[in-house]
Amino acid sequence: MPAATVPTYLTSVHNLRFDNRFVTTLPGDPDRSNRRRQVLGATWSTAAPTPVADPRLLAHAPEVAALLDLTDTDVQAPDFARVFGGNALLPGMAPYAACYGGHQFGNWAGQLGDGRAISLGEVVNAAGQRWELQLKGAGPTPYSRTADGRAVLRSSIREFLCSEAMHHLGVPTTRALSLVTTGDDVVRDMFYNGNAAPEPGAIVCRVAPSFIRFGNFELLAARGEHALLAQLVDFTIARDFPQLARLADATARRGAWFAEVCERTAQMIVHWMRVGFVHGVMNTDNMSILGLTIDYGPYGWLDNFDPQWTPNTTDAHGRRYRYGQQPAVAQWNLLRLAESLAPLFDDEQPLHDGIERFAAVYAADYPAMNAAKFGFLHAGEAEQTLAREAFALLFDGEVDFTRFFRALGEIPDERPPEGLLPLLGDVFYDDARRAATAEAMEQWLRRWHATVLAQGRPFAARRAAMHAVNPRYVLRNYLAQQAIDAATGGDPSLVHTLLDVMRRPYDDQPGRDAFALRRPEWARVKAGCSMLSCSS
Ligand code: AMP
Ligand code: MG
Repeated sequence: MPAATVPTYLTSVHNLRFDNRFVTTLPGDPDRSNRRRQVLGATWSTAAPTPVADPRLLAHAPEVAALLDLTDTDVQAPDFARVFGGNALLPGMAPYAACYGGHQFGNWAGQLGDGRAISLGEVVNAAGQRWELQLKGAGPTPYSRTADGRAVLRSSIREFLCSEAMHHLGVPTTRALSLVTTGDDVVRDMFYNGNAAPEPGAIVCRVAPSFIRFGNFELLAARGEHALLAQLVDFTIARDFPQLARLADATARRGAWFAEVCERTAQMIVHWMRVGFVHGVMNTDNMSILGLTIDYGPYGWLDNFDPQWTPNTTDAHGRRYRYGQQPAVAQWNLLRLAESLAPLFDDEQPLHDGIERFAAVYAADYPAMNAAKFGFLHAGEAEQTLAREAFALLFDGEVDFTRFFRALGEIPDERPPEGLLPLLGDVFYDDARRAATAEAMEQWLRRWHATVLAQGRPFAARRAAMHAVNPRYVLRNYLAQQAIDAATGGDPSLVHTLLDVMRRPYDDQPGRDAFALRRPEWARVKAGCSMLSCSS
């Protein structure tokens, strides 16, 4: 029975105020059934969560609960797991699935939509901030096509932990309130190789000011629904970009908006490059209009630096979404968005200007970000050359990306007689590759050292500045997998510990060295650690 028909009036979490602007402002689908279908002339369909056998709260993020004005008592109440496991609705919730399309791996895929995501509503908190609550894995919707609308525990743990890790790293992202196990199994073929097996199911409640994607606009344009396209654009600007509302002329406002989307997207990608994050599935339906990292699937973190690396086995052949290609793909995705918006512009110049803004912001921010990572005070030609040389050496020497930058920040002003290389510690993955690059690395380190010394910033200040942009802790793939294995075996404590470690990724946390180590050898080719698929 759909949850919508069994509303329960919970007292413990009753104080949430919903205004649900998306569904109250924009046209919805008059068909209220769950039948899979093409939805025309609407931006959303009613979709109630399908109840699960035994919802239990496995973890939650207190900071996100606080954004919603929920107290610890609210979160610990049994009703909380019922609501965020999809078994009950709060008064004011108006659950729906959004209609969108997208380009997947470079090809137009037509209507996709929220096939296993159900938005519960938009909360306005006491401070006046808007937060949309969305369950991922809460059952089928009209957009589920042939799939079940469910999510497995492993991918839910990955989304839950990474959303919060990214936030604390300072990367724009959707957030995660809760992780609820369902008590139901979900059958998945993890590597699409005919080995389907039951896995425990789970539901993440993710939270963001908006979950609108490039694909919401693309689908309306592809169908020629231009009036609705204009309505969605103007709605997005009014609700999510209120600072642009002062522009009275609609065309100017829409142009400024597109440019801002381009700018935010560029900034997000610079952050991904800074922390070594590879999204893995940068399809246009996975691109947030707010420039947030969204849809954590087969993502991964660089261990050894390799710009060609992708964690996504589904993308292993073309490596479209590899680390080094992310800026180019973001721009490609923005071009698809620009094409979709073109019918709203008599003169397309503002769209060209927006794409130009992406390029300009990236061209300015990427070198500046790298300069900060290397401890340089500016990003001149010499500094950029040094950075490029370092990346070539990190690749050739098979060096750990995160540990390298952290170690670089620890190098003092005095050069020890044995040289600088030993100060890097165990950042190499392979002895032979270390030996082959050691001499070049020592020479590079000396040039780097001379540069930062010449810039005159004292060691303590340089170290602090570098450590503020170079995290000590990132959610390495093997760490997430260890938490998944333990939680699947009934012990969720590593999920809690990782959530806590990732709360302060730039601090040296005494006693937690184990979470800042290189990827162990056993994890090099293990499923979940270096190989992930879209199956989730
Ligand atoms: P993704 O690759 O996760 O971004 O998903 C692409 C599309 O497939 C979106 O429309 C999803 O809602 C849909 N989808 C993915 N997994 C499922 C599932 N288990 N059940 C229903 N729809 C799904
Ligand atoms: Mg998606």
